[in-house]
Amino acid sequence: MEKDGNIYECIIIGAGPGGLQAAIHLARYNRKVLLIDRGGGRTTHAPHILNYLGFSEVSGKDLITAGLEQARSFGVEIVRDVVTRVEKKDVFTVHAMETQYQAPFVIVSAGAVDRQPSLRNLGRFFGKGFYTCVDCDGHLTTGRKLLVMGNSMNAARLVVGMKKMYTDDIALLLTDYVLPDDDRQIIEEEENITVYSGQPVALLGEEELEGVLLADDRVIPCRAVMAGFGWRLNDGFLSDLPLDRDRENFKILTGSSNESSLPGLYVVGAMKPGHSQAIIAAGQGAAAAIDINNQLLAL
Ligand SMILES: Cc1cc2nc3c(=O)[nH]c(=O)nc-3n(C[C@H](O)[C@H](O)[C@H](O)COP(=O)(O)OP(=O)(O)OC[C@H]3O[C@@H](n4cnc5c(N)ncnc54)[C@H](O)[C@@H]3O)c2cc1C
Repeated sequence: MEKDGNIYECIIIGAGPGGLQAAIHLARYNRKVLLIDRGGGRTTHAPHILNYLGFSEVSGKDLITAGLEQARSFGVEIVRDVVTRVEKKDVFTVHAMETQYQAPFVIVSAGAVDRQPSLRNLGRFFGKGFYTCVDCDGHLTTGRKLLVMGNSMNAARLVVGMKKMYTDDIALLLTDYVLPDDDRQIIEEEENITVYSGQPVALLGEEELEGVLLADDRVIPCRAVMAGFGWRLNDGFLSDLPLDRDRENFKILTGSSNESSLPGLYVVGAMKPGHSQAIIAAGQGAAAAIDINNQLLAL
């Protein structure tokens, strides 16, 4: 593959931790690497990441900024643009708003977006009382008055798990979902957890979260919320590609080196099955990069 023009050895879509780690690894093999990122993303919006090796606390924004600088220092080209389509003939063509680029390998690290109810004051409390990820922020709810909210059986499983790990002072709010009688009995009578039904409309409090206001004016007092409404993938630009998905036709399946069912296209981070954690995504990025470098050596 020529090392000039808009032709690269690998194009990485999305500056999530997986994409950045892959960029750093590939650039350190002196590969010609392009990283296309539109900005924002779940990691950037995480006020704090508390379970990343080597940092007792780092903001998601600082982690991504440091990763971008590190990648740039090894020669990765970084452009701010939105990828709109990826197609594959002999090589991949990645279409962005401004231009198009080609490479024999593509790593997709475009992440996902949390589904949230529309809540007044969400910005004030996001990551500071209102949480969406047990693996990330569950520990911060230890001993606090906690409300778990969601719209599926997953929320019922979540509330039981959180009671075991973090706090006995816990309640469940279900929106648009009615628990089967057997499960309701277990949660209310055996686990002694209050179950509410209703539509949350606002988070209450000034400095600290004090409660959740429902559409019918009831207030559920709480000091922390763990919300589980699922998420959607940032995968619209992959819709032309034949990619194997999981049983729910949701996440993109990969092998152990993170290569998808379409040879040459790798997927890391929240878009593939597994736990959505920064450190896991970074490891997947490293594994993808090493595999791609080995494939480039064999070309
Ligand atoms: C509030 C919160 C707290 C969290 N706390 C922790 C924590 O404590 N510990 C932890 O390990 N994880 C935490 N996470 C999860 C973590 O941030 C990510 O899920 C994980 O790092 C994996 O990243 P990602 O794959 O989701 O990519 P993201 O971080 O979402 O990055 C994807 C990137 O791709 C870009 N992109 C998307 N579509 C396009 C496109 N079409 N064209 C160009 N670019 C595009 C986005 O702009 C973004 O920059 C938290 C998440 C949230 C929301």
